[in-house]
Amino acid sequence: MGKIKAIILDRDGTLIEDKDYAYKIEDFELLPGVIEGLKILQKNFLLFIVTNQSGIGRGYYTDREFHKFNDYLIGILKENQIRIERTFYCPHVKEDNCECKKPKIKFIREIVDGWNVDINNSWVIGDHPSDILFGINARCNTVYMSTGHGERHLNELEVEGITPTYISNNFLKAALEIVRVK
Ligand SMILES: [Mg+2]
Ligand SMILES: [Zn+2]
Repeated sequence: MGKIKAIILDRDGTLIEDKDYAYKIEDFELLPGVIEGLKILQKNFLLFIVTNQSGIGRGYYTDREFHKFNDYLIGILKENQIRIERTFYCPHVKEDNCECKKPKIKFIREIVDGWNVDINNSWVIGDHPSDILFGINARCNTVYMSTGHGERHLNELEVEGITPTYISNNFLKAALEIVRVK
């Protein structure tokens, strides 16, 4: 009771336009409704980003370039009085068979342990079926965004029997749905 709840956000295709392995500031583009939506969500939830960044493992950009780009996003959010508790990222490629790549839930475990989060009343928001699996694996609620790559993968949800709590085409709408049922 009264325990802290979290929103666990995918980054690319959910908060910002997914431009395939983007790391240059010039490619940075917030998606519609993100600022407004996060402002609503942070009244009731802690905000985290969990992002798969295999571009690092593939050598497309460095760890440092990832941080520079991600810090830019965090800075823009901060200017809007939005606080992200932490960004967790997996730098590996699939072949590394690591423990941190979504849909594996290592980072959710760290969030639950580190912030004493009530995971059953928390949410994962993402634009890929693996984000939804990630949430389901951790017994979170989930919102599938048809922004980013979401539209392209929408049919996979049905084919693979992955059922998000909601499907949304706009971040602000998703946020309003979440607080409506919170
Ligand atoms: Mg994504
Ligand atoms: Zn990893």
